[in-house]
Amino acid sequence: MKKPAVCPGCGRKFKYRELLTVNRSKKCPGCSKALYQTPAARKKQSAVLLLVIAVLLIVRTLFDLGDGLYLLTSTLSLIILFFGVPFLVEFDQKDRPMFGS
Ligand SMILES: [Zn+2]
Repeated sequence: MKKPAVCPGCGRKFKYRELLTVNRSKKCPGCSKALYQTPAARKKQSAVLLLVIAVLLIVRTLFDLGDGLYLLTSTLSLIILFFGVPFLVEFDQKDRPMFGS
């Protein structure tokens, strides 16, 4: 499994539950520096989200799930995605643009 995200400032390892609430930035509990997610990490998260949406659309097209079951599948996928995001988090001390240099 991938190593947990660390603070580039003090090297503190983040706990899984601390990464569940990461948005664009997070304050390090160790050194109080503002940390930002790397563009690579944000791209990975977007890619996974798109993949999940694509799979859901394919499932909906291929299988006749019915609205209730489809809603359940979608909700489950989003929950899995939510709990999977901490494995994709990487921090940087600068807020870099997602695209460009
Ligand atoms: Zn730190």
